[in-house]
Amino acid sequence: MTQRAYNFNAGPSALPQEVLEKAQQQLVNFRDSGMSIMEMSHRSAIFDEVHNEAIALLKKLYAIPENYEVLFLQGGASLQFTMVPMNFLAADQKASYILSGSWSEKAFKEAKLFGTPVEVASTKDNQYRNIPALEDIHFNEEDAYVHITSNNTIYGTQWREFPETENIPLIADMSSDILSKPIDIQKFGLIYAGAQKNLGPSGVTVVIIRKDLLEKANKNIPTMLKYTTHADSNSLYNTPPTFGIYMLGEVLKWVEAKGGVAEIEKHNELKAKVIYDAIDNSNGFYKGHAVPESRSLMNITFRVTDEELEKQFLTEAKAAGFVGLNGHRSVGGCRASTYNAVPLEACEALRDFMVDFQQKHQA
Ligand code: PMP
Repeated sequence: MTQRAYNFNAGPSALPQEVLEKAQQQLVNFRDSGMSIMEMSHRSAIFDEVHNEAIALLKKLYAIPENYEVLFLQGGASLQFTMVPMNFLAADQKASYILSGSWSEKAFKEAKLFGTPVEVASTKDNQYRNIPALEDIHFNEEDAYVHITSNNTIYGTQWREFPETENIPLIADMSSDILSKPIDIQKFGLIYAGAQKNLGPSGVTVVIIRKDLLEKANKNIPTMLKYTTHADSNSLYNTPPTFGIYMLGEVLKWVEAKGGVAEIEKHNELKAKVIYDAIDNSNGFYKGHAVPESRSLMNITFRVTDEELEKQFLTEAKAAGFVGLNGHRSVGGCRASTYNAVPLEACEALRDFMVDFQQKHQA
């Protein structure tokens, strides 16, 4: 097999090599059916098993209580920016949005089409270097819900502790840190995430929704955009992305074999520390974007002090086999995305490269 790249892509991103190899083995003749998983009916017994196994395993790994549904939808996390307010924000209602980066801004903008989203906290004035302090966030008791982005993929910040919203449902976009650490699902009314970072290939969007919210959802909206449509049909109302769901199930089996989310979290902490240490020990040659208390374990954002050197850093890193280190096109700089499937060795190789580059180029 050819050498795998040191893949730090922000999404779609690295998948576990074991999963890719298993999928390759199973591709042409899936479970003795004489066809691939992509070629069979989504109503077949074999696909049904794959689909239900994936749902059951996600429930097990995340300890999702009985009063929640797991849905597999399409349209990416971006469609959830719309579906959430379309289902839960009436024209005369307010919802609290906490702005911690560009993706929360996009969610906020969509909500304006349906009701009145209120910006209750924002760290934009600080270039989204931090997550707002919990004590600075105040909700309005009549809020339909509170919306947060648990990990800010572009700026590299992550919530450590979630706000207590009591009776107001907390809704979280967890696209870039789902399944990276244990969480208390019961704190949330709804969680959504595009699969293409920690869960599998793009094309599947996971939604974890508390059942009582389904009953409260707006009924006067298009069929495909109602959560109830998908909950009532076990996410098989129409043809689902069958290959993506199969891959998601295999990634979940891989997480289970690694010891589950608690072990994955330890590994993620170790991986991120390797790179943050390289930044912190560089005497300012590398500068982290996020304030240390808000640093993400998934997206490590940094700059090289000198702009010309930064260009050279990215060029040389690419030549050395590192992929995806350019920051998001809206902010520039450098970003290493260290999702679940990125191995420790890739992070160590990046650290060595950073140390080496600094030694060569420091004035
Ligand atoms: N939210 C977050 C936090 C993201 O990182 C992304 C994509 N990078 C999105 C939403 C948009 O996801 P999608 O492309 O699946 O619509």
